[in-house]
Amino acid sequence: MKRIITYLLPLAVLVASCNQNHLLFSNGNSPYTIVVAPGASESEQYAAQELQQWIQKVGNVKLPIDSTGEGRRGHRLIVGYNGLTSSLVPGSKPQGIKDESFRYCTRDGDILLWGGSMRGTLNAVYSFLERELGCRWYSADVSVAPAKKSWGFNALDYSDSPALRMRNVFYYEPNTDSVFAARLRSNQTRLPSIHEGQTIEGSSERYWNCHTMGQFVPEEKYFKDHPEYFSLIDGKRTPRQLCLSNPDVLKICIEELRKAMRGNPDYLIYSLSQNDGGEEKNACECPECQRIDNQYGGKNSGIVLWFVNQAADAVRDEFPDKYVGTFAYRYTRHAPVGIKPRDNVVIRLCSIECCIIHGYDCPENQDFAKDLRDWSVVAPHLYIWDYVTGFSNYHIPLPNLRALQSHVQAFRDNNAIGVMEQGGYENKYTEMSELRTYLLSRLLWNPEVNVDSVLTDFTDGYYGAAAPAVREYINFEHNVLALDSDVQDCYPWYGDDMFFDEFATEARKIIAKGREAVAGDAELQRRLDLVEFPLCVLQMERTPQQALEQGAYDLFLKVTKREGMTFLNEWDCWKNRNTVQRFIDKFEKLKTQ
Ligand SMILES: [Zn+2]
Ligand SMILES: [Zn+2]
Repeated sequence: MKRIITYLLPLAVLVASCNQNHLLFSNGNSPYTIVVAPGASESEQYAAQELQQWIQKVGNVKLPIDSTGEGRRGHRLIVGYNGLTSSLVPGSKPQGIKDESFRYCTRDGDILLWGGSMRGTLNAVYSFLERELGCRWYSADVSVAPAKKSWGFNALDYSDSPALRMRNVFYYEPNTDSVFAARLRSNQTRLPSIHEGQTIEGSSERYWNCHTMGQFVPEEKYFKDHPEYFSLIDGKRTPRQLCLSNPDVLKICIEELRKAMRGNPDYLIYSLSQNDGGEEKNACECPECQRIDNQYGGKNSGIVLWFVNQAADAVRDEFPDKYVGTFAYRYTRHAPVGIKPRDNVVIRLCSIECCIIHGYDCPENQDFAKDLRDWSVVAPHLYIWDYVTGFSNYHIPLPNLRALQSHVQAFRDNNAIGVMEQGGYENKYTEMSELRTYLLSRLLWNPEVNVDSVLTDFTDGYYGAAAPAVREYINFEHNVLALDSDVQDCYPWYGDDMFFDEFATEARKIIAKGREAVAGDAELQRRLDLVEFPLCVLQMERTPQQALEQGAYDLFLKVTKREGMTFLNEWDCWKNRNTVQRFIDKFEKLKTQ
């Protein structure tokens, strides 16, 4: 079989090159110019630079950028919608600035790439580089630009648009690196500017703040003189939440919200939302709050929406294209009855109680699935805060890579305008974070993407010859953990039912095969260290003596030191606690026993 493939391949290349009438580059030379019109937006100028940079990496030739909007006919890469586009592609129209959909096509040797001038054109460039030239951006540090002697084309025409307007892959790398985030088409961070190190104002689709009611009406400022501003719980005013039926509370919140909107113009949605906290009782039990809430089904969400709607009405005239956002979270997660969010109100529905290793067919997720459907009926704009990692242990195997798709599809099917996938946002290299970032950014753009193809693409590109072993490990992990487990929320623990003592040992044997395949390649060994690290943590928690004997602790020491890791979970990060040192103290003691 192998022989047939080697025989057929040169023939296929020959046939393809015969059909290619136009050569973009050949042997380090190119007759092409990148053309941007004088009126091109800053991000389109940046798109031209990106196109120049990545074509140079692939074809070993730096194409000039012509900013006069001209260039030689039949030898242009025309970036952004301009006069050339309208004359060469009759019927095409300029798109809205914020429209992120795009198209690229060819006309007699010219290649035209355009979309909305903020992100659409840039998306066209990235899509062209990926689909046609094979470029990939696997992580902030690891990109692939396959070197080619020549690349030609005949006729190209490709267009695409995102399934979700706001796509927030809330992992550390896209959240802190605007260049990488732009390449992933994740739009919660501003776009990079043509001026080194700067970003473009107004270029992100962002949500301003959360849990703001306590920030707008702070306990320290008001509780002493106005306890009636705060929630009445078991007969006592308690600063857990606000008394939303109090007209002064509404007045203060509107004033503070307005200040926030004026002071932070670079956002789309501004939060006016309940405080955090998972206590059993949250809602104010004063007669007026209860009366209002009962009017809307008594779900606790009714009075919140009644309150937020009034604030949204108050700011609408000054901010006609902005939204006010509020939570459907924990005690307010069920949709109310008989009241709808205003059309400038966004409901931010949170999936924190869900089982994250199964799709929404998991029995544990039926309640949430119902809330999602109920909200989608009443809320014109739904934004999902989704949890995709283990916050109680960022570094523990979590077999949910294949469950992510059904969750994103459910959000799309229920008319979500945005999704935040909250993962390991506080530090690099949480469990499989590079792969998760890559996969999630593709799912948010296109929930129908073939997940196995993305996994193959990523593992081949990122782990090289170790890719088959990494895929074998992923399959093993998902087959034995996800299928066996009844339920797993986003607070996994090493003692959870789904884990068993032999798992880490068996899984590490698979990783060892990958190590053999890339022996001598320090960088690929490093990436495999990061795959193996969660297995070491699990082994150290469950079977410390075995972890010591099988080298899990040694690898733990090596990785934590090299990558500068200190905390290994969200809580320790917040409290500035050194989780790693705790392990070291325990294991150094164990060594001497
Ligand atoms: Zn009240
Ligand atoms: Zn489940």
